[in-house]
Amino acid sequence: MNVIETIPGIHCKQCDFKVAEQTSFCPSCGSESIETVSLKPNGIIHSFTVVYVGFGHMAARAPYVLAIVQTEENVKLTTVIEGVTDFNVVKIGDKVRFKGMDEKIGPVFQY
Ligand SMILES: [Zn+2]
Repeated sequence: MNVIETIPGIHCKQCDFKVAEQTSFCPSCGSESIETVSLKPNGIIHSFTVVYVGFGHMAARAPYVLAIVQTEENVKLTTVIEGVTDFNVVKIGDKVRFKGMDEKIGPVFQY
């Protein structure tokens, strides 16, 4: 996994929507008037669950925290949170930081 400082994403010039995906059109309004942007790496846990039984390539990773992170630019990503040693202390609103893109699982955040 490459450690990078920003999240690769797109910005729609039509409706100002930002998303942490690489698509050829805007997921919000369908416009193709988009540009690639670097999104800010800081966010909070919006929602999460602890996955005890992973499937496929995630099996070896379990247990792990699967979360929806909301970044400071209000972009939401489904992501794995790394660096959690005690699942009982994870809570909504916790500050997390983008760690990098895993080619198999997508974005990974950490405390
Ligand atoms: Zn749009």
